[in-house]
Amino acid sequence: MARLVMKFGGTSVADIDRIRNVAQHVKREVDAGHQVAVVVSAMSGKTNELVRWCAELSPLYDPQEYDAVVASGEQVTAGLLAIALQTVEVTARSWQGWQLPIGTSNAHGSARILDINGDEIVKGFEDRGEVAVIAGFQGIHTETGRLTTLGRGGSDTSAVAIAAAIKADRCDIYTDVDGVYTTDPRVVGKAQRMDKIAFEEMLELASLGAKVMQVRSIELAMVHNVRVFVRSSFDKPEDIDPHGTPPGTLICDETEIMEQQVVTGIAFSKDEAQISIRRVQDKPGVAAAIFGPLAESNINVDMIVQNVSADGATTDLTFTVPAADYQRANDVLTKSKSQIGYDRIDGATDVAKVSVIGIGMRSHAGVAAQAFKALAERGINIRAITTSEIKFSLLIESAYTELAVRTLHSLYGLDKA
Ligand code: ASP
Ligand code: MG
Repeated sequence: MARLVMKFGGTSVADIDRIRNVAQHVKREVDAGHQVAVVVSAMSGKTNELVRWCAELSPLYDPQEYDAVVASGEQVTAGLLAIALQTVEVTARSWQGWQLPIGTSNAHGSARILDINGDEIVKGFEDRGEVAVIAGFQGIHTETGRLTTLGRGGSDTSAVAIAAAIKADRCDIYTDVDGVYTTDPRVVGKAQRMDKIAFEEMLELASLGAKVMQVRSIELAMVHNVRVFVRSSFDKPEDIDPHGTPPGTLICDETEIMEQQVVTGIAFSKDEAQISIRRVQDKPGVAAAIFGPLAESNINVDMIVQNVSADGATTDLTFTVPAADYQRANDVLTKSKSQIGYDRIDGATDVAKVSVIGIGMRSHAGVAAQAFKALAERGINIRAITTSEIKFSLLIESAYTELAVRTLHSLYGLDKA
């Protein structure tokens, strides 16, 4: 017997038929003798609709009431799934965040989970053989007693947190894809599903825009060592052997991965913009004068490259921001031109960031050098480079994104045979 958390996203509970399908997946695990807590999202599109309604009434809506509204989507699916389970003779009940409770911070709209009381869930397993169906995405700020939500995509985080709280053997994330791929399969036909990926690698992938799971949920899984299995809810429930290994990707500690490859995945993003500040003063305080105001304006700066000055007086500084913030970033820098002291600003929005990820890079030299050579052979110019322990990122002209990603995917041996 195992203790499992099963999480179903919006497309997996999109209508009554899909909810019946979910009930069959749950029943399969219960019949196999497992203890099951289910975490559900709102039906797909529902949260967007609720968010829209709030904004329609007032663009400056009260965040506490926003949470009261958007938390309702998950309440509906939790109740419906409990009914669906009861109709197939599975003992089940729904739980809302405040009923357990799932205690969170006071940051309405993007609250952090502080602690979860899993006692009632475990008691339900042991005393009544009962499946707990938990509304994802929501919690309660216990001091004020107000409902909170965890930020968009937050039910992944609910699921991982509950898995940690009840010491589940695994947290299964059922979604509309059957796992995590070496890169976007829509761009590279030869992309492969990974059997396993380490927490740190997945964290990089998710931060770089792979939309499989909320970034925070992976941080949490890493901290609490929760094994997360990404799998498809579109596989037929009756075709799955609850004791076998279904198709999917296990996100786990690196020590569980025997044959670690040097490079495990390639991510890319075209929503980048480059800003170069020319002939900026080379003296203490300049970086603070540039990045301070950008941070105050909530502009996320990513790659930063600064040259060592040749004349001892001025240098060039290049960095990237999300394309959506490009104009704002320019305005901020123009306003603080006299404090910073520079010649001019050059910029480009037709750039893309391609990132190569793998914990094997910690112990292998020359991984990035191979990429530079391969891209040069294809005539792709690299505008900026940043590296960290387990990844490096290259800024290139966006027209070459697909070619670059395909080239690197083959270079590092990731192509499907
Ligand atoms: N329903 C919420 C959203 O759409 C939470 C989730 O699905 O994870 O963001
Ligand atoms: Mg989601």
